[in-house]
Amino acid sequence: MQDVRNERTLVFIKPDGVQRGLVGEIIGRFERAGLKIVGVKMLQPSRELLDRHYPSAEDFLRTIGGKTTEAFQTYGVDVKGMMGTDDPREIGRQVRAWLIDYVSSAPVVAFVLEGAHAVSVVRKLVGATLPVFANPGTIRGDLAVDAPTVANLAKRPVRNLIHASGTVDEASFEIGLWFRPEELVTYRRADESAMFGE
Ligand code: ADP
Repeated sequence: MQDVRNERTLVFIKPDGVQRGLVGEIIGRFERAGLKIVGVKMLQPSRELLDRHYPSAEDFLRTIGGKTTEAFQTYGVDVKGMMGTDDPREIGRQVRAWLIDYVSSAPVVAFVLEGAHAVSVVRKLVGATLPVFANPGTIRGDLAVDAPTVANLAKRPVRNLIHASGTVDEASFEIGLWFRPEELVTYRRADESAMFGE
């Protein structure tokens, strides 16, 4: 059976996080929680990389479109009036194109993090996709305020500082996309015995 203490996940700090000088603040939160950095690189991602990273699959587009609709409803703004359509798939397609333009426009810092249930623990620390809905205490809730009602009007993706893999399968696909096997390392953290009693 796979040892869940060694689960790995991919995160990257998006251009807004790098440009706001929040790389240390963000990665420090993961390190403090007990997650181990096993890969790191700074790069300006190509459109080809991002095209593979952000799937054009129907569910991904619908999820993004659904989040737009939810935010517009919460704030009482007419989605069709603002976006020209209320079809979640169409909105999702538009947001995906803005996202690829934005993330390929400037440097990001990508990390592979390892630890007990790393995928779900990282998502918990990152918080909800839309910073206006993200709980206090989370990275997006504490450090960002953006929403589709602001971003989509300006024809740009929501600025939420960071990407984190959503599932264990996604994590393994994304790690393979962003890192070569020899770029990942194995070592012990000094506090592992205090955390896990070994
Ligand atoms: P997450 O990053 O939390 O996994 P998604 O995979 O659903 O979220 O969306 C990918 C990225 O697309 C988000 O991080 C955000 O930058 C952007 N995004 C998502 N939904 C919207 C939206 N409704 N309007 C603008 N940008 C969005």
